[in-house]
Amino acid sequence: MDKQIKEVNCPTCKKIVKWDADNPYKPFCCERCKLIDFGAWADDSYSVPEQNPDLPQD
Ligand SMILES: [Zn+2]
Repeated sequence: MDKQIKEVNCPTCKKIVKWDADNPYKPFCCERCKLIDFGAWADDSYSVPEQNPDLPQD
């Protein structure tokens, strides 16, 4: 046991993530979970603009 790797839970999917220096997404397990988490708080201030459907005219 010369190396101890800390493990954390991904905040998004709760998957076990090895706290590795090679993991640029920590504490997330992957880029997708990181983006999902970022999107969760960003979504609060970001509102999707309503689209006015343009009916085709003859
Ligand atoms: Zn995850």
